[in-house]
Amino acid sequence: MPQNVIIIGSGPAGLTAAIYTARANLAPVVFEGFQMGGMPGGQLMTTGLVENYPGFKDGIDGQQLMAEMKEQAARFGAEMIMEDVVEVDLGRRPFVVRSMSGRTKEAEALIIATGAVARRLPLDTEKSLWGKGISACAVCDGALPIFRNKPLAVVGGGDSAVEEAVHLTQFGSRVYMIHRRDELRASKIMQKRAMEHPKIEILWNKVVEEFLGDAVLQKLKLKDTQSGEISELEVSGAFEAIGHVPNTAFLKGQLATTENGYLITQADSTVTSVEGVFAAGDVQDAKFRQAVTAAGTGCMAAIEAERWLAEQS
Ligand code: NAP
Repeated sequence: MPQNVIIIGSGPAGLTAAIYTARANLAPVVFEGFQMGGMPGGQLMTTGLVENYPGFKDGIDGQQLMAEMKEQAARFGAEMIMEDVVEVDLGRRPFVVRSMSGRTKEAEALIIATGAVARRLPLDTEKSLWGKGISACAVCDGALPIFRNKPLAVVGGGDSAVEEAVHLTQFGSRVYMIHRRDELRASKIMQKRAMEHPKIEILWNKVVEEFLGDAVLQKLKLKDTQSGEISELEVSGAFEAIGHVPNTAFLKGQLATTENGYLITQADSTVTSVEGVFAAGDVQDAKFRQAVTAAGTGCMAAIEAERWLAEQS
């Protein structure tokens, strides 16, 4: 017997979809994913205190939040499988899902909530100081005490980098944008916002060569991409905003995506280009990328899947 619904991914989108479909008596199966996002639970598993998820006035640890969501989904009967999905066949009904151990399951409806991973700078010193002043999310971490009234840096020149830099001006004494070219990729309006902000300074044609610091980040070693000149910049925080990569490789082109690889969903909906397949969370959202928006679209996907299944029968 095929499953009613299989959910791929166990971040806020996947687990919210699991809670809703389980409560709708659809007995969902959740492939939690393991390697695609580094670990089950998605990006919040690598975040510290989450202070902007409603309902937790003192904030909640990212891992704890995901553990609570998982238990909530399990309480209503969602089945969890801690494996990555490596392949799906959307060309036949029921859909076929194959996981890394070779396990194959069939489903009438699919909810894809595999998220995206922040692109990271491939530096050893970045790995060793990650979470100790280096982050990929200013909205999540910018308000932490270690960044208050300190010089901060954002790496990147796109819309996200500008957004992060502007956000950080509330907390830091000064915000440096470090960009590898002499022109921002961000939209004109965002460029203007960065260039006119009194607290933001753009360091053009610079790349980070090394993150320096003992226990926490203290300085950046920068290289000028034009002259090759090396310099140091004192900062207490560095936020990487060099793009995200949505986790869609396992789909092998079976669903329509944007040029950046994000799944395309219909307006105000989680409906994808294949009937019966719904997408929720960061895998279809290059714009908001928040836990609460992911949970919201997870809820939408569950309700749309439930209605679609009811129509089929
Ligand atoms: P993005 O547009 O791909 O920009 C990534 C930036 O990081 C680029 O400036 C790129 O430099 C730089 N970069 C990439 N790899 C790098 C590396 N290894 N070292 C140094 N720099 C590196 O990504 P994004 O800003 O996250 O935006 C993604 C999408 O979401 C875009 O379509 C964007 O418009 C949208 N978005 C919209 C909003 C909004 O409307 N408010 C907010 C956020 C995002 P180069 O410029 O040299 O390539």
